[in-house]
Formats: sequence, structure tokens, C-alpha cells
Amino acid sequence: LVVPLSSVFRAVGLIQRGMGAFQRIDEALSLEAEPTEPKPSARPVPAVPARCSPRTAPDPAEPAPALALDDVWFGYRPGRPVLQGVSLTVPHRQQIALVGRSGAGKSTIFALIARFYEPDSGTLRFDGHPAAELGRQECRARIAVVDQNTHVVHGTLWDNLTYAVPTATPAEVHKVVELANLTDVVDRLPGGLTGTVGERGNTLSAGERQRVALARALLTRPSLLLLDEPTSHLDAINEAALGRVLQDVTRHCALLVIAHRLSTVQNADHIVLLEAGRALASGCHEDLLTTSAAYRELAAGQALRTRAQGTNGRGAMRL
Ligand code: ATP
Repeated sequence: LVVPLSSVFRAVGLIQRGMGAFQRIDEALSLEAEPTEPKPSARPVPAVPARCSPRTAPDPAEPAPALALDDVWFGYRPGRPVLQGVSLTVPHRQQIALVGRSGAGKSTIFALIARFYEPDSGTLRFDGHPAAELGRQECRARIAVVDQNTHVVHGTLWDNLTYAVPTATPAEVHKVVELANLTDVVDRLPGGLTGTVGERGNTLSAGERQRVALARALLTRPSLLLLDEPTSHLDAINEAALGRVLQDVTRHCALLVIAHRLSTVQNADHIVLLEAGRALASGCHEDLLTTSAAYRELAAGQALRTRAQGTNGRGAMRL
């Protein structure tokens, strides 16, 4: 009797913890906006050098961007703006990166995109539709988020890939496995897709776990993929592998990436440097190195740190 009873108590404990987590998620999703006063317009973002963006004028045949922020102001507390007139466009088939010092407002932009908060003023548009007209669930259905916590759980690779889309077909799963460069993992695991990945995915490397999270997100067919510090736990080899995967991913959805390490995003189509809640400069890596002193400083600081750490397996940055 003791063994089954202890299993029951363990199960009850797990369910209670799960219920608590669900309650917190539900609370977060139902956060309501605090209406605040509109703010004056921000100083304009410097123009993007032509070399970074080959399109000189918008093509009317082109679809509206996956995401557009227009003069967005936001503060967690009244009178303390965190974002000050941020404008930002994430076109389809492009990778846009957000960089800047800690506290610049990068995660806050993600929180607004996921509609955990509403801007005090300014607009967000998803595929050309104002967020306010779409409603929260519709906005969230268009995005997928991959953060530093890969959330790989004990179970099969198949379960880990499909838990957001349990109705996925084998063909759909194979497609994202290929896209996320997980074919080797499937070949290696005894049982392939139905093989178990161990407690928290401990039979996989950090890079493989990150790519599992990416494949899972891609299975939801997002219009926009948000990546928060995707390479923070990766060594240079895995960082480079993920970089190549991300280039392929842009054929399927738009990408917005938060990165502390510029080596992660130096191949992005467009980089926006945030400082104190403002888009201080934007362009591609090479152009920002020549046009923005603040970007140069950030890049030089990182190169120095990397050198001081003896590279520590980190990716190299072009300076
Ligand atoms: P990091 O690179 O360290 O993650 P970040 O650029 O993502 O920083 P945010 O996390 O967006 O910056 O924070 C921007 C500012 O907003 C900071 O001053 C931070 O203290 C403040 N902030 C962030 N979240 C909250 C919150 N929930 N309530 C109040 N202030 C917040």
C-alpha cells in the first residue's frame, strides 16, 4: 500500500505545482494595460545607409512587414518611460537584431510584442494589421518565442518537438528537424524521433537543446520568430551552427533577435542599437562600425572582453 500511496502523493504534488504554474501564466496573459498620457515624439532614428538595405523605396507588391513598431513609448510606471519613441520594422525573410547595454529596453520590446503590456502611445502592427484590432490571442498566434531556457523535458524527441502542436504530422516534424539541423540527433538517438532525450534533455548538447527549442517554435508556423539571447549558453561551434540555421529560417519567417554578443548578430540584415529606450543607430554590422561611435564602443568592449577571456570558445567578431 505504501508504494502506490507515495506515488499518488508525488503525483498530487506535481499537479499542484503545475496548477500554480498555469495560474501564473494565466495571470501574465490576462494583464491589462494601464492607460497613460501620450508622450511627445522622439528624435528621429538616423537613416539606414543604402548598402545595408538594397530597397530604396517600398515596393507596393511587397507584403506588409511581419512587425512594425511606430513611435512606441512605454513605461512600467507613470512618468518613467523605458521606451522613448522606438520605431522598428521586421520585414518578412529578414533577420533584425536588437543590441544595446543591459537595461536599454530590449526585453521590454519583446514584452510589448507578446502583448504582456500595451504601449503608452505609438502603434504595433503585425503583418500590417494594428495590434489593437487583432486582439492579444491573434497577435500571439503570429509569433513564437525562443529564449535562453530551452525547456527540454524528459520524454521523447517527438514529444519535445510537438508539445505546442500535438496534431503535427510526421512530414511537418521532419521538415523542422531538417531546418533546425537536428537530423544528426535523430540518427544518433536510439529510437530516433521516438528515442528519449533524458532528464531536461541531458543526452543532448546545449546547442542541440537550443535547436530543439527552435524546431518546436518553427512547428507553430510563426510569421515572426523572437529569439532572446539564443547563443548565450553556446560555444563557438554551436553558435556558428545556429547562425547558419537562422539564415535558413528566414526563408520561412521573419526573425527578431536580442543579442548581448555582437558576434551572434553580425550577419543580421539590420541591427538596431538601443540606448536608454531609444533607437540610437541602425544598419548592418559593417556600416554601424563606421557610422556609430556607440556601436564601435560596444563592439570594442566585447572584443576586449573576449580576448581577456582567451576567447573561451566564443565566436569571433569582425571589427
Ligand atoms: P538586459 O540586456 O539586461 O536584459 P534589456 O535591454 O532587456 O536589459 P529591459 O529588461 O527591457 O532591458 O529593462 C529596461 C528597463 O526597464 C530597466 O531599467 C529595467 O529595470 C526596467 N524594467 C524591466 N522590467 C520591469 C518591470 N517588470 N517593472 C519595472 N521596471 C522594469
